[in-house]
Amino acid sequence: MAKAHLADPRIPDPHTRGGLACQTNPDLFAYDLAPADTDDRRRVARARRVCGGCPIVAECLKWALANPSLTQSGIWAATTPGQRTNLRRRLRARLGTDWVGVVAAADRARALRSTARPTAPVDVPAAHPLWSQPYEPWRQPVTPEQQEQHRQTLERAQYTPRPRRRTRRAGVSLAEAR
Ligand code: SF4
Repeated sequence: MAKAHLADPRIPDPHTRGGLACQTNPDLFAYDLAPADTDDRRRVARARRVCGGCPIVAECLKWALANPSLTQSGIWAATTPGQRTNLRRRLRARLGTDWVGVVAAADRARALRSTARPTAPVDVPAAHPLWSQPYEPWRQPVTPEQQEQHRQTLERAQYTPRPRRRTRRAGVSLAEAR
């Protein structure tokens, strides 16, 4: 593992936890030049697969990119040295020459936002059902007010107004009769 005291202090070293695959089996992650033969290619592919399942792969990649002098060889976060060089070039083009500072500032801001949130769990009263049985409105008791409303509705439905008869004024009818 690289010497942490030479590392860029703006990006925390995530490799402090023990038991990482690259610590227990460093030979698997060795990579200086392009893989020489099929066995070598298989080994590198296996190392990259192992990195893919590593719990700190994102932090490892950030650290490896921020510390080129410490990660000139080897597989780090599933990347080869050439891939890391390409990634650094793209980061520089996108964020400027001090891209490490930009990334570190964004990390600090994110950490501040997460600590600003309340950490204590919100005391939410346990939910309880309003009805002990599944809600079936047609089985619930009807209140007197509802009964009255229903009665009025039925009355209105039964009332059918008689059609209005056309009436003629008497004077007009007499004149027509003559
Ligand atoms: S991502 Fe790979 S190189 Fe990085 S700590 Fe995990 S196993 Fe090691």
